[in-house]
Amino acid sequence: MNQVTTPAPQVLLAEVTHRCPLQCPYCSNPTELIKKDVELSTADWARVFEESAELGVLQVSISGGEPAARRDLTELIGAAHEADLYVNLITSGIGITKDRLNDLVGAGCDHIQLSLQDVDPDGAKLISNLNKSLERKLEFAKWVTDISVPLTVNAVMHRLNLDRLPETIKLAQELGARRLEIANVQYHGWAALNKNLLMPTQEQSDRTNQIVKEARESLEGQLLIDYVPVDHYAEYPKPCMNGWGRVALIVAPDGSVLPCHNATTLTHLAFPNVINHSLENVWYESDAFNAYRGDTWMHDICRTCDRKEIDFGGCRCQALSILGDASAADPVCSRAHPHALVIDDDTQVLELVEPDLITYRPNA
Ligand code: SF4
Ligand code: SF4
Repeated sequence: MNQVTTPAPQVLLAEVTHRCPLQCPYCSNPTELIKKDVELSTADWARVFEESAELGVLQVSISGGEPAARRDLTELIGAAHEADLYVNLITSGIGITKDRLNDLVGAGCDHIQLSLQDVDPDGAKLISNLNKSLERKLEFAKWVTDISVPLTVNAVMHRLNLDRLPETIKLAQELGARRLEIANVQYHGWAALNKNLLMPTQEQSDRTNQIVKEARESLEGQLLIDYVPVDHYAEYPKPCMNGWGRVALIVAPDGSVLPCHNATTLTHLAFPNVINHSLENVWYESDAFNAYRGDTWMHDICRTCDRKEIDFGGCRCQALSILGDASAADPVCSRAHPHALVIDDDTQVLELVEPDLITYRPNA
């Protein structure tokens, strides 16, 4: 693989911290959270933003954890803006006062993506393990739209809140969001530990597909709806990260550079760090980023498949965790695994959900 055949990255996900005041049991952060004392400095991040812009990146999503847990968030946003990147802040809204929001926007924040745990206050409390989290988010969303910053609502859906999807769509409209992401939980990491609480039923999944279809039709031109269906009931896998090392790169709080959130579960790969590697070197030359580019790594069923440029064989982390082979076709794929491998696992759905049955991620 060389610079001619590898496209430049377009998107940088800057995970500036894993600290978070919420404790969502499906959090996409790894189960081994990176500690504050090894987080990159403000100057390190400024260099990452400059290098990524030079590499061709157009947009940075500053994320976490909760990025507001970093006292230097305004400086980080300013540095990304200075590097000429479009700056999207992914936040829970908790820990950002109205004045701080104004500072962030003044420093160059172009867009805000607000996570939503549930439209029901008790449901939001159960998932976030934080009192009044919904009420605080609603207040924050109003501040955002009052100053005309484009707002996306990111609603993570699962068995406990999917029945409130119509209300979720309605709330996104009422908040003035321009875009709504309806993202079903991906069962890796923390979510895998809570699968028996969170996994929807087939009936919920089918109903959700229909509700999203109807909402997209009726709200066309008013609210853009992105949708991540329930993986386990899909016919084909999703194009994980739009293909390994094709579009996006993630920099973790300690500076490790990853092609996807869960890539550290692929322990046979060594992920370079921005402390001692340039982003250009990582993107084009590193073994980790080149490992699953192209199709030479694929098993025959994917290499000869007409969908290989659509889904790129799906998720490497899911292939490793369920099949024990990171090069296998995604376990979701009905062509490669016609016997419903993913659904036939031993998940026992719990009927009653109490907080002490949930494995919450810690705050830090
Ligand atoms: S705990 Fe929740 S709000 Fe915090 S980073 Fe994880 S998913 Fe986001
Ligand atoms: S066989 Fe491979 S490329 Fe084809 S649909 Fe399945 S996962 Fe995708």
